[in-house]
Amino acid sequence: MHVPSKTACLLLCLTLTAAVANGQTQVDPDVALKMLNSQQQQFERQVVKVADNVFTAVGFHGANTSMIVGTDGIIIVDTLRGPSSAAKALEAFREYSDKPVKAIIYTHSHGDHIGGATAFAGANRPDIYATETFGSAEGVNKVVNPVKMKRNVRQFGRDLSAVERTNRGVAPAQTADGDGGKGFLPPNMLIPKEGLKTTIAGVDLEFHIGPGETDDAMFIWLPEEKVLFAGDNFYSSFPNLYAIRGTAYRDVLKWSESVAKMAEFQPHVLVPGHTMPTQGQETATAMLKDYSESIRSVYDQTVAGMNAGKGPDQLAHEVKLPEHLENKPYLIEFYGSVPHAVRAINSGLLGWYDGNPTTLNRLAPRTKAIKISKLAGGTQKLTEQMEAALAEEDYQWALELSDHLKWLDDADKQLARKVKIQALRGLAAREYNAPNRNYYLSYANELESGQLSEVWF
Ligand SMILES: [Zn+2]
Repeated sequence: MHVPSKTACLLLCLTLTAAVANGQTQVDPDVALKMLNSQQQQFERQVVKVADNVFTAVGFHGANTSMIVGTDGIIIVDTLRGPSSAAKALEAFREYSDKPVKAIIYTHSHGDHIGGATAFAGANRPDIYATETFGSAEGVNKVVNPVKMKRNVRQFGRDLSAVERTNRGVAPAQTADGDGGKGFLPPNMLIPKEGLKTTIAGVDLEFHIGPGETDDAMFIWLPEEKVLFAGDNFYSSFPNLYAIRGTAYRDVLKWSESVAKMAEFQPHVLVPGHTMPTQGQETATAMLKDYSESIRSVYDQTVAGMNAGKGPDQLAHEVKLPEHLENKPYLIEFYGSVPHAVRAINSGLLGWYDGNPTTLNRLAPRTKAIKISKLAGGTQKLTEQMEAALAEEDYQWALELSDHLKWLDDADKQLARKVKIQALRGLAAREYNAPNRNYYLSYANELESGQLSEVWF
């Protein structure tokens, strides 16, 4: 059971005061590091017995896998990313049951939940359950895979050094990915949109369609044990309503509704797709209600702001979690972030245009940089402003000025790049949002190594 320690609570309160003051996920560097370290408890490797016949393996890869023990066999919920990690989880499960695998269930189609199935299936041919829309989440924007892959490496900090690594928000910093996807088995039992109630190996199960992080997601309910498997529509962090690696629009409203539907079951145990399970009916139900409310609130505030004519830049700084939710440990923005969610909702519902005619035909970056340089009193003055911003630890401003200088032929571009690298590292140190932190650090390293000297995107 996850009970935040007193120290964690103290740390949390301290942190949140700082975070709210900042309006973003930026705090004192020591606090940021302590917060990320305390989040590690959510994915330390272990098997948790969540009910008499239900076990969840946490920390064997990025996501969780679970075993339900029936009368003449076991059922596996999610299979990790590849067979090597899955085999280790199965070995750990075998301490509790040696029954054959009767069925495998995919909560959704993300790679970290489906790639290890062969390790569980072995020589058996278990039925494999997924929604009838399985796979619809991926493949819609394959054409931009080259850039998505680069951004994926940055978001997850895959190339960071040992001293730069912390974690991925809801997963450890490093995972064995060499065999990713190699153990995937296609589903043969497709759950229709009205869901399915069935019995497998003597265990009553209910499959409920629940779009959220992906359109093809479902949650699984065990009516006897009162265990709910949420897939990735719930984990201990504010949800990743938008992934900075680049994703198609995730239907935020449906995500909120799916989690509200889960709360109606009032589970005794809540097993998330990542992070530790929660036991206790009151706690688990409250968590789901809060989670749904937090998503809905961000959505409603954003929509209201949009209808009032506000653009995403303004709204990303204005929309906040409701006060009664901002101290909840499972809503801290370790993985998803409110400002990113706001921007995603805006572009998901209206596209790129913010409604302001000034932005209909913006100046080209080089033209704007030349005008900004003039405004500053010349490129030299602009450079001094950039250096001053860095010295004052006004890192975001330093970044924005360095981005102007990179377009100017009379600028010291080496210096502008150096400042950008330092500013990115300055921002990273203060970040407790893991994707932001990882992205800043990774990009700084790429700039420093010269990989981005021509492109700078
Ligand atoms: Zn996942």
